[in-house]
Amino acid sequence: MSNNQVTQSKGYKYVIEHMEEDDENTKALPEWVKLEYSHMLKLVGKESSVHFTSLSLNSIPSLKNHLSKDKSITTATSSSISKIEEKGNPTNLTILELIKKLNINFEKVCLLDPKAEKILSIEDSKKFEIFLYGGILGDDPPKDRTSELRKFNFNSRHLGEIQMTTDTAVGVTKLIIEDQIPLDKIPFVDLPTITFNKHESIEMPFRYVTDDKGEPILPPGMKEHLKADLNRSIDDF
Ligand code: SAH
Repeated sequence: MSNNQVTQSKGYKYVIEHMEEDDENTKALPEWVKLEYSHMLKLVGKESSVHFTSLSLNSIPSLKNHLSKDKSITTATSSSISKIEEKGNPTNLTILELIKKLNINFEKVCLLDPKAEKILSIEDSKKFEIFLYGGILGDDPPKDRTSELRKFNFNSRHLGEIQMTTDTAVGVTKLIIEDQIPLDKIPFVDLPTITFNKHESIEMPFRYVTDDKGEPILPPGMKEHLKADLNRSIDDF
């Protein structure tokens, strides 16, 4: 997608409330979390940053461990994690503590919520500075786990009636807010089938932005991960 729009000069903060447990076998972040989190850091504007917060203490050490290891993402994330830490608090800050620590005005926070009343619009680029997401693997059908964030009563917006993965939701927010492209001008594909070969394919229960070939934009490495998962589950039969 050619974005010949002038991007906004000021950066935005994308905050992901990490809500998934560590993988019980590897005791580390689930693979899809690593791939999605790394991807969203590449999707946001160059002056913007991505922050990870977590209500649950146990998964934050592995989150920090992964983010500091992946050199391609040191800029946006570790700086924001260190920013959280330099406030003298462990990184298991809740979103409310984070916005207090970074003294950001509560009204400037926008929760991306599939059940919000209003659609995110290009004018919201002037209203909000922080965009908040649930770091959740989309369930099918959705279990509305975003409700855990809804209780903070932030302003909220939705991105259409179909569920997106968190990185897609971040990428779509960036297109609307930073590149000023209205939601109905963004090319999407819903529930695409990812084909690995003539025998193997998988249907993804989400809406994705498409690239100029009409293909769903997945996190780098996700297709390989899905294929490995598919083979593992076939072996389990
Ligand atoms: N299964 C979860 C959502 C997983 S999607 C649930 O039903 O709550 C992960 C996050 O991406 C959500 O918490 C939300 O912040 C964002 N998101 C995904 N699709 C969205 C949509 N259509 N509108 C607004 N936000 C969305």
